[in-house]
Amino acid sequence: MFSKILIANRGEIALRILRACRELGIPTVAVHSTADSDAMHVRLADEAVCIGPPASRDSYLNVAAILSAATITGADAIHPGYGFLSENADFAETVEAHGLTFIGPTASHIRMMGDKITAKTTMKALGVPLVPGSDGALENLEQARAVAEEVGYPVLIKAAAGGGGRGMKVAASADEIEEAWSVARTEARAAFGNDEVYLEKYLDRPRHIELQIMADTHGEVVHFGERDCSLQRRHQKLLEEAGSPALEPHQRDQIGEIATSALKKLGYRNAGTLEFLYQDGQFCFIEMNTRLQVEHPVTEMVCDVDLVREQIRIAAGEPLGYSQKDIHFSGHAIECRINAEDPLTFMPTPGTISVFHPPGGLGVRVDSALYAGYRVPPYYDSMIAKLIVRGPTRLDAIQRMRRALDEFVIEGVKTVIPLHLKILDDPEFRSGNYTIHWLEKFVAAHQ
Ligand code: ADP
Repeated sequence: MFSKILIANRGEIALRILRACRELGIPTVAVHSTADSDAMHVRLADEAVCIGPPASRDSYLNVAAILSAATITGADAIHPGYGFLSENADFAETVEAHGLTFIGPTASHIRMMGDKITAKTTMKALGVPLVPGSDGALENLEQARAVAEEVGYPVLIKAAAGGGGRGMKVAASADEIEEAWSVARTEARAAFGNDEVYLEKYLDRPRHIELQIMADTHGEVVHFGERDCSLQRRHQKLLEEAGSPALEPHQRDQIGEIATSALKKLGYRNAGTLEFLYQDGQFCFIEMNTRLQVEHPVTEMVCDVDLVREQIRIAAGEPLGYSQKDIHFSGHAIECRINAEDPLTFMPTPGTISVFHPPGGLGVRVDSALYAGYRVPPYYDSMIAKLIVRGPTRLDAIQRMRRALDEFVIEGVKTVIPLHLKILDDPEFRSGNYTIHWLEKFVAAHQ
């Protein structure tokens, strides 16, 4: 097992990783920017190293500074969390070249899945169903037109290097394809320095359902079921559930079998998530994330597993020690992302937290690095807490979430808690019958 782990992240996820390390008896090193000197992850870690000024590119994305911090503290492994360097293949490679362990997949798998076109062709070859669309990258506008005619409008032009919902443009009809083609490419070039794009049929009422996978270095691959992340605004998830209100257990087993056997053939290791759009009983793979995800706690709650602990054990070479038949799903879990944003305009609201009173009680979990007096810096993501609940049934979980949100007191900054309360009270949400387009409409109707 590792003698010391450096956590290359901040906020709630840095704390989340720190907690897993503590329980495994592994000392931790926190790294932080000058804006985060008073952050909770810095306070709780065994050691802390300042790695640069506030801007992410100079601190949390500063590979040289992070590696130096690992070297001077004698850390032998690095956990990247999510965001920042977590899906940067060059970083994973550099970490290993320095004789340290990267707690995650191999650099080549990260690189493969980071290019969505390669990801799709690889998954197709491994028997995973895809959204109908172009076979690889689009060469030119004429090809885009031809593929669009073939799969039928509306279509979506997507960036090969895409992420965070950027570089994606819908064309409702042939009149719009030229503009979608050029806007998607321009956006992709500006955001990712790569204007390669591909085309997918634009599904009109899918759910976003993703599958949590874990693979050890001894050939065992298991899945921990699905998460339904259909509640999105501007392609950003806001509320997630495990399991999906739309799936029957045998459908989970089926897609789980397809996904685990694909990753087994690929020789994948550590945590990963396969994202699918699900419509009319069909799963269509859209991308794979080669890291821990923000919404992983809902899976932990229904499977009674510590996914970060599993990531660390696997990275240290330990076998999983169990197989698919040992994984059981119990109850229903919901996560609400609490962002420091105006609940109507979604403008970020950085500022000082004057009062912080997290909810408690049976089946309630709060993952947050907040405390009273903490100043939410303006430089980073606006998510300041995750509230996760579990209940025996979906309805119990909804009631529990409502109760927990009512108890949650965060003063000093505006948050999206009022929006979550409205969603939880909505009959359509309660029925479980919603698609990826539902939240945008809901928000527009309540503005
Ligand atoms: P990113 O990596 O930028 O998050 P994804 O490919 O994961 O991009 O897509 C993000 C979201 O965009 C999906 O969760 C879904 O809401 C929407 N989306 C992506 N592809 C399609 C599609 N073919 N049809 C309809 N919606 C889509």
